[in-house]
Amino acid sequence: MPQQRELFLLAWPAGHSVSPIMQNAACAASGFPARYSAWEVAPAELGAAVRRLRDPDVLGANVTIPHKQAVLPLLDELTPAAHAIGAVNTISNRSGRLQGDNTDAGGFLAALAETGFSPPGAQVVLLGAGGAARAVLHALLGSGAIVRVANRTAGKAVQLAEEFSSAGPVSSVGSEELPVAVAACDLLINSTSVGMTVADAEDAELRSPLPVGVMPRQGLVVDLIYRPPLTLLLERAKAAGLPVQNGLPMLIHQGAQAFTIWTGRPAPVAVMRAAVESVFAAGNCRE
Ligand code: NAP
Repeated sequence: MPQQRELFLLAWPAGHSVSPIMQNAACAASGFPARYSAWEVAPAELGAAVRRLRDPDVLGANVTIPHKQAVLPLLDELTPAAHAIGAVNTISNRSGRLQGDNTDAGGFLAALAETGFSPPGAQVVLLGAGGAARAVLHALLGSGAIVRVANRTAGKAVQLAEEFSSAGPVSSVGSEELPVAVAACDLLINSTSVGMTVADAEDAELRSPLPVGVMPRQGLVVDLIYRPPLTLLLERAKAAGLPVQNGLPMLIHQGAQAFTIWTGRPAPVAVMRAAVESVFAAGNCRE
């Protein structure tokens, strides 16, 4: 009987993550002897948690909010993607040495491919300049898209565009020009957290990153949010007759790519998707 290996999700808080259900379903379907558990790690405990990942019984880990950037200096090496994005979401234990990778970028592209969208030469408007925006920007510029970044704190969009300028055609767009840029784009992506909570449902405008009426004329609209599955932005895009995708396919594909990094095996994507969808169908989807 091969020894069972451990996989962790380092998060704070970690309570309602769907990743354990998705990854344990993948391990079971592949006959891979590993167990994936959520581990609530406060920022002050991150160093000790990362030391535990070096033990021989540990295969690796996912890292999420608030540790994706803080973990970088604690690792032995980074993949080129993790280095360029400046954030890690997947760690693998290679005989006691820890390698940091980022599967958010590849997961985003794999999800986008499901829609049939072709990035080379496409005009993209990316809303947000946080951690998810960095992974998406890295993925899109590496695929030949032309990207304009808009953000509530405009200076961060300017800074992000400057930082990634050597990777491809990227610029920032201010709030005044944004409606025109959005109308003309082939792909609109929301990577802000606006639309995530239903607590502010009373005021519809607080649930959408764009004012009502600002929408692509004919582009695809992607929201990285998967909780709730249909954000106000996607609801409005659908009502305008536009194709839409929420954040679930990206969540599934970033997990599938992490599974392959840890196990060296192709991920059972259909099994992982079914596991995630069962959680959402049961309504047990808070995080
Ligand atoms: P983050 O680093 O905290 O960035 C948050 C972004 O949202 C910033 O650009 C911030 O703008 C903006 N924002 C927050 N509140 C706002 C408001 N009231 N009005 C306008 N803009 C606001 O977060 P993150 O890690 O990038 O995650 C962002 C979203 O992506 C989350 O909803 C997360 O669940 C989702 N995500 C999904 C996946 C997936 O697999 N589907 C993966 C990663 C992330 P400022 O700079 O002005 O504060």
